[in-house]
Amino acid sequence: MKLFMAALLTETNTFSPLPTGRAAFLGNRFSRNDGSSQPPAWGNIPLIAWRRLANAAQIEVVESITANAQPAGTTVRAAYEEMRDLILDDLRAAGPVEIVLLNLHGAMVAEGYDDCESDLVRRTREIVGPDTVVGVELDLHCHLDDTLRTNADLVVIYKQYPHTDMAERAEDLFRLALRTARREIRPVMAYHPLHMINMWHTPVEPMKGLVAEMLAAEASGEILSLSFAHGFPWGDVPHVGAKMLAIADGDERHAQATAKRWGVRIWDMREATRKRFDTPDAAIDVALAAPAGTTVIAETSDNAGGGAPSDCTAVLARMLARDVRDAAIGIFWDPVAVSFVHEAGVGALMPLRLGGKCGLMSGDPLDLMVRVHAVTDRHVQSGLSGGISELGPAAWVEVASGGGGIHIILASERQQVFHPDAFTNLGCTLHDKRMVVVKSSQHFYAGFAPIAREVRYCAAEAGILRDFAAIPYERFTAPYWPRVENP
Ligand SMILES: [Zn+2]
Repeated sequence: MKLFMAALLTETNTFSPLPTGRAAFLGNRFSRNDGSSQPPAWGNIPLIAWRRLANAAQIEVVESITANAQPAGTTVRAAYEEMRDLILDDLRAAGPVEIVLLNLHGAMVAEGYDDCESDLVRRTREIVGPDTVVGVELDLHCHLDDTLRTNADLVVIYKQYPHTDMAERAEDLFRLALRTARREIRPVMAYHPLHMINMWHTPVEPMKGLVAEMLAAEASGEILSLSFAHGFPWGDVPHVGAKMLAIADGDERHAQATAKRWGVRIWDMREATRKRFDTPDAAIDVALAAPAGTTVIAETSDNAGGGAPSDCTAVLARMLARDVRDAAIGIFWDPVAVSFVHEAGVGALMPLRLGGKCGLMSGDPLDLMVRVHAVTDRHVQSGLSGGISELGPAAWVEVASGGGGIHIILASERQQVFHPDAFTNLGCTLHDKRMVVVKSSQHFYAGFAPIAREVRYCAAEAGILRDFAAIPYERFTAPYWPRVENP
């Protein structure tokens, strides 16, 4: 038996001004045929699992690319087509294969392609024919269209947000694909659309319990696979929105009924899971009012992982205006500022223009006087699902004007905060801070919850729009909750 595998991922925020081009893929630890032997990171974690399981089952593996671009704006058409065609060329060259496994995102939009994943899977099916098992792993922030459902045999989606289960879901997909290839099961997939735009956090109730029940339903054999596609709110495509996906063994009605039953449960939880965000000032109020401990504030509106620039100054400006002390904030993506700080060196007291460079989402630049505490040519933080996240040349500075006491992490690679070591690896301690602001939506949570007295989620007016009812969709025209109460 022969297995073909590849990875192509990015999450497209169609409202972001940052282009996603060739360099975004090729400059981000791109691998041609050996991604599964590289250190674990976002793109290759499933491939590492598939390689290990295939070896154990004595299945030959043909590996194509691992390509992964940081979420940003619409992908340049030629860049998508180049990546796609590398995979398809490798698939043709591999000859007949019994299983194709693809690690994709599910919310990749390119010029001329509303759904890159379904385009890739449809072309994959054309090459391999009807008998090869085509399995796809997706991020839960995905759009699901019918082309994907009818051309793939199996779609398995992360269940956890933060995404701590990439490897487990890869194992689920591998086992289902192998059973399908051996004709032990005959998967049929059904969607249930929810007409909802929201974000659901799975470490907390009621989602925590629901995910546990989904896993239990799979383990009991009631259903082969059950996935909740949360959707990605900032993709203006006609099929945006949350959906339940069920895979049953040969029984389409059972798949449809199961997807609907679980979808109704999500709908019924809508008030308990409705996301509300603090203003920056409200979040700062909470931190300042705390008697002790560290309040962790997510600056969700400037999350690189959602396609934001990560150089927005809106929250930092409020911290400065309110003379906040004993605080840290990061990670600002500002390669120019990093280069100035590196040039000045550790110990320097220097003027620094920070942030505000990428467009309206960035807010205004801030002119600060800073003290340089640390510089490094290669900063890293712990990533998700055991991966490593590269941050490039970076620095730790402290605002020196006023009373000082706001510590800032700057980096040259645009990346959200995943872990406290994004600060501590540079020497910036967090246990002595009353307030730590992380530019992230939710992926910071697993790493920061243990050190947080309280976690708050805030959204500034600049950056990614967090009022789901007010996202200015043009191509998505269907009614949805929370824009209307009963779509
Ligand atoms: Zn995601």
